Amino acid sequence: MQHSGTGRERLYKVLVIGDLGVGKTSIIKRYVHHSYSTNYRATIGVDFALKVLNWDSETVRLQLWDIAGQERFGNMTRVYYREAMGAFIVFDATRPTTFEAIIKWKEDLDSKLMLTNGQSIATVLLANKCDQGREVLTNNNIKMDQFCKDNGFAGWFETSAKDNTNINEAANFLVKHIMATE
Ligand code: GDP
Ligand code: MG
Repeated sequence: MQHSGTGRERLYKVLVIGDLGVGKTSIIKRYVHHSYSTNYRATIGVDFALKVLNWDSETVRLQLWDIAGQERFGNMTRVYYREAMGAFIVFDATRPTTFEAIIKWKEDLDSKLMLTNGQSIATVLLANKCDQGREVLTNNNIKMDQFCKDNGFAGWFETSAKDNTNINEAANFLVKHIMATE
């Protein structure tokens, strides 16, 4: 942790994981670059984006990690997860299979990374593309609040990278929870 003249600076590595095509890259671009496009190429490798927040008198730097093409394997290497302090796990609110994959992503994350106190890192669930539909949220009997409680998510948000819905809110919520786990 670094200290600057005026306030503390915090750097948090934040993972953005979930199935291919759910909108991970779009969420990051919207949040960091304030832009949206319908055709981000599935770049291979790992992409980083840095978002700087003024948080009370402190500076919070969020280093967002985009898995970019490796999600087809359904799991990631420990190296990728290493030292992350928070995660977004994203599904597409119009595609049930991407919701079914959430548990697998959470288990993969928790099996490869934990905080020094043995807890899992702060994780927030994102139901993306809510501008397009929310079948997954309405067509099954899952109560999202209970689902989050049962599966170790700090909370969940309906988001749209397209319409810029709830992305800042979800990020602020995650930062608050990361700070609480530090
Ligand atoms: P990734 O594979 O998870 O990184 O997904 P992308 O960010 O590449 O998005 C996949 C496709 O879904 C692209 O065509 C995006 O334009 C589209 N998309 C992403 N977010 C949204 C959203 O919030 N609403 C809608 N309607 N489309 C979205
Ligand atoms: Mg992507």
